[in-house]
Amino acid sequence: TVPGASVGLGELPLREDLRGRSPYGAPQLDVPVRLNTNENPVPPPPGLVADIVAAVAEIAATLNRYPDRDAVALRTELARYLASATGVGLAVENLWAANGSNEVLQQILQAFGGPGRTALGFEPSYSMHPIIASGTRTEWLPAPRRADFSLDVEAAVDLLGSRRPDVVFVTSPNNPTGQSIPLSDLRALVSAAPGVVVVDEAYAEFSSRESAVHLIEEFPTRVIVSRTMSKAFAFAGGRLGYLAAAPAVVEALLLVRLPYHLSSLTQAAALAALRHATGTLASVRMLAEERDRVVASLTGLGAAVVPSDANFVLFGPFADRAAAWQSYLDHGVLVRDVGIDGHLRVTIGTPAENDAFLAASKEIVP
Ligand code: PMP
Repeated sequence: TVPGASVGLGELPLREDLRGRSPYGAPQLDVPVRLNTNENPVPPPPGLVADIVAAVAEIAATLNRYPDRDAVALRTELARYLASATGVGLAVENLWAANGSNEVLQQILQAFGGPGRTALGFEPSYSMHPIIASGTRTEWLPAPRRADFSLDVEAAVDLLGSRRPDVVFVTSPNNPTGQSIPLSDLRALVSAAPGVVVVDEAYAEFSSRESAVHLIEEFPTRVIVSRTMSKAFAFAGGRLGYLAAAPAVVEALLLVRLPYHLSSLTQAAALAALRHATGTLASVRMLAEERDRVVASLTGLGAAVVPSDANFVLFGPFADRAAAWQSYLDHGVLVRDVGIDGHLRVTIGTPAENDAFLAASKEIVP
């Protein structure tokens, strides 16, 4: 028997506001074709694996010491990467890093949200935004998108004026719908926002839109751009997220971060992964071409596909999306039910995985 198993969640002195909530729960199933969590399907090549092993071996000899609390070497390389990717000159003071961008987002809400404060997001969007808000006791204000999932910027600007949220989340490209937001629209949103605007650019490398880092100099007190190595960098298991903002924003995050939050092992492995950026990012082009192929094939089957410049697509219509999700699973393909009526989301995989998905779709798409 399991000690303590006689007690249920309802019997714990849990915070009232957490009662009845559900944890984040993308199924982790052992299925041949896993296309449900927007990972990069290409594993690290042997050269990168060897570099990570060597870097971690070197650090292993110093594990009696705490890591660099401020991850200066890693932030320096992240600044170099992001500057070259966006054309915006960024320094180490503009960068912050944590264990995945989820932790970055949590630190942002710890510093700029919290009890008595509000965070607004345009739904459907990344399901962790309201969950992190709830964990930090930030009141969540859901705002709508248009029926085609695009963002109505004029309506959004009005809403920011009337609701006056302390934090606004804008996901671009948006998960789970795939569209990104032009810089001019972002500028209008930031101009109207009374607090900070977190532009969640987890999938930015898959899009050709200009990054919101272009707005940091113009709106230093308001723009925070969140990024991750989990997608384009094929480093989801390494857990490395980062942000770019004015140096004062980074100073604010130092007030809430746990000391030594980023282990020496993570820092060393992420630095090794960054040294291989050019090779890894080559997969982004392949995945973008595969995305266009998947979209064309799905459309050919009669599916309605939401335009995407990310590494996933939302498609339908399914009269019974739960049954369709199960049919894909029966074909050995794990896709994602993101809770949107009539729709499922599929991550773009390797060409062979996409072929398996498309073969299943022939039988499942109505
Ligand atoms: N933002 C968005 C929009 C995402 O889709 C994800 C991952 N699904 C994340 C942030 C978090 O990713 P990570 O913590 O792995 O950086």
